[in-house]
Amino acid sequence: MRIWKLACMVLFCCVFLAGCGTSEKETAAEKAPAAEPQAQVEMAVPKKGIPVLMYHMVGDVPDNDAVLLESHFREQMKFLKDKGFHPISLQQLYEYMAHGKPVPVRPVVLTFDDGYPDTYSIVMPVMKEYGFKCTVFIPAYDADQGTRLTWAQIKEMQASGMDIASHGYHHERLTEMTGTTLQDELQKSQDELKQQLGITNEFFCYPYGGDNAAAEAAMKKFGIKMAFTMNPGWAKQGDNPYAVKRIWIGNAVDIGNFEQRVTTEQYAQR
Ligand SMILES: [Zn+2]
Repeated sequence: MRIWKLACMVLFCCVFLAGCGTSEKETAAEKAPAAEPQAQVEMAVPKKGIPVLMYHMVGDVPDNDAVLLESHFREQMKFLKDKGFHPISLQQLYEYMAHGKPVPVRPVVLTFDDGYPDTYSIVMPVMKEYGFKCTVFIPAYDADQGTRLTWAQIKEMQASGMDIASHGYHHERLTEMTGTTLQDELQKSQDELKQQLGITNEFFCYPYGGDNAAAEAAMKKFGIKMAFTMNPGWAKQGDNPYAVKRIWIGNAVDIGNFEQRVTTEQYAQR
């Protein structure tokens, strides 16, 4: 009987120690990749602000300035990669604007409005290829309606690292809504994002860019901490987080003008 007891104890110890060894190795392996890239990126608090780029549909529709040629889009993203720009998240932008927190040097914010199918088919692969962060503003009602993204596509985009945020529910001007209509619009949008994507949404893009005091008050009520307009300019520390400016990117913006738009607020108008 003693022999059996001893054998059991030895076996138990071997299994226990082997288990410890494995978990230590796994923990070390998990930590290593995350720490390395962070250490290499230089951080700073940009005095002159951060450019927030505004994209809509991307594709090859000739003579339509609302649709950015795919070649222009690819050229711009390659430019950002080659020149060492760092596309940051809206959370990082918020921490900088509201609390003066540092961000990676040469920061830029990439936003895509409206949830067009090309945001899935063209933009997502490019974001993955370059490891870029971006945000897609979705009018929740439009998903699964046939002409825009499906929820399945949006979920895949979210899983790939793209942030999804609200562009209203029906994509209508908030400035023309009053009372319960405005409240309903935001409530439905927040609820749908929660239900479909599991997110407590904190970021909003005003449809057609329009905002006013009532819209900003409603944002606060529904837990939104930052909202984006179509007013031109860079986002600066201390600016009103409910009226963040953005930089238009259309086909008239060649690569020289694009460079201006991401390096100075005094870029040539196109
Ligand atoms: Zn829109």
